[in-house]
Amino acid sequence: MNLASQIEQYLPAEVLKLLANISTQANQLGQKVYLVGGVVRDLFLGYPNFDLDLAIEGDALKFAQRVAEITQAKLVTHPRFGTAKLSQGNFTLDMAMARGETYAKPGALPAVTPGRISNDLFRRDFSINAMAISLAPDSYGELLDPYQGKSDLDRGLIRVLHPKSFSDDATRILRAIRYEQRFGFKLEPETAWLLKRDIAMLDTISGNRIRHELESILRERYPEHVLRRLSELGVLQRINPSLKGNGWIAEKFDKARQLNKPSQLSSLYFCLFIYPLSGKENEQFLHQLNIPGKLSRSLRDTLCLKSQVPLLDKPSMKHGEIYYLLHEYDSLAIQANAIASESSTIHCHLQLFLTKLRYVKTFLSGEELKKLGIPEGPELGKVLETLHKARLDGEVNTKAEEEKLALSLKP
Ligand code: ATP
Ligand code: MG
Repeated sequence: MNLASQIEQYLPAEVLKLLANISTQANQLGQKVYLVGGVVRDLFLGYPNFDLDLAIEGDALKFAQRVAEITQAKLVTHPRFGTAKLSQGNFTLDMAMARGETYAKPGALPAVTPGRISNDLFRRDFSINAMAISLAPDSYGELLDPYQGKSDLDRGLIRVLHPKSFSDDATRILRAIRYEQRFGFKLEPETAWLLKRDIAMLDTISGNRIRHELESILRERYPEHVLRRLSELGVLQRINPSLKGNGWIAEKFDKARQLNKPSQLSSLYFCLFIYPLSGKENEQFLHQLNIPGKLSRSLRDTLCLKSQVPLLDKPSMKHGEIYYLLHEYDSLAIQANAIASESSTIHCHLQLFLTKLRYVKTFLSGEELKKLGIPEGPELGKVLETLHKARLDGEVNTKAEEEKLALSLKP
């Protein structure tokens, strides 16, 4: 099958120009270059894909450098891995040497050897991700599909390439369900059987790799579908018995999508995902997955605040009181609690803080207070807080009123 005309339609002109240059270079260097993996799959499905992977039978670094010299594409190299990234507008082209992999033991990182495109396709996770398109001038657009990935795409099936696939690398269990739910596909029956058989192999995977897959799941359009299915299969419980992917999660994730800016949505999902956990369970989870500092602060704050929000369940609270209860919490933790709380009063108070109160400032700065004769140090802090509360509660509404109050507070 030749896909040259589909590629023309699928990719924008500037990326096609880059591919044409790559093709010419391949010819001159006598190396074969292929588009591989997700981009081939997405081309058939008609989905956008901005991260093109290229496999090169030869030195990917040198190759990418040559291409960067003759095009305007931006180049970033990773000499340690022998890989390079070219960028053109919104598109990135990841270039890597075609390689084979062997697994010394389950879950270990594989030993890598330079190889042909056939070895490179065999190391891949599923047939739908194990297709390549040649970019060589004499075979430009030819499809390589040794595992019938196109047929599986047409039939909507996720299929592993060999029976040891999940035990070699159990992160593929999470990947299989992610693709199954993203595309509305089914696991091919033997693949489904192997997946269930190998769930215990998740114990061989490092926390970092599990976290990485969980992050990918939380970047999906409907992560709750993936989590529900992982929970039905017993996969989530295998990772950590406290984790749930139930209807509650689904309802809250849906609310989160309606509220939040997309850039922070996956962190907000994370907060909602751990919301049902106890503080102790959460600590264990943070440690297990080696969650980085900023996110772990949001997750810890989510649970701390969860234990404090009953204090907000009084309809007639002063705004200053709401502010000083909440101002030290991470804003994602506040959003998560606003979404998770069943009390409409608590919800309103949290929303009021997020949309209004957190932006309210005093008219006077610390410097101006000093000029009014208020001494530096803890006193000044106290005066500022009193002024701020008065402002929040609507007791002062102009700079003059605030000055008057400040002078009355002078020690
Ligand atoms: P997505 O749209 O989710 O990014 P993708 O196919 O681009 O899908 P990546 O995680 O970016 O997925 O990986 C790129 C390619 O590398 C995949 O298409 C797959 O062929 C291969 N791959 C990634 N992870 C694994 C793995 N754990 N085992 C085998 N092959 C993998
Ligand atoms: Mg990708």
